Amino acid sequence: MNPGSVNLSEVLTRMPIEDPLKKRIASKALLDHKICRDCGARNPMSATRCRRCKSKNLRLKHTKLVRR
Ligand SMILES: [Zn+2]
Repeated sequence: MNPGSVNLSEVLTRMPIEDPLKKRIASKALLDHKICRDCGARNPMSATRCRRCKSKNLRLKHTKLVRR
């Protein structure tokens, strides 16, 4: 499994979080990353290039939250 492909709504379906604060922390932990388009590695938000393959082809993890 590629850790960069974690789907938040999928995680929340499997592991429902009621506490809104915990939910915010969980979303942040899951979403605050940059994903390398070349190798799929997760990088910190501050990264400008991939820590694994040094590619500059990074994208922000999509931060769309599904509200239910
Ligand atoms: Zn990479």
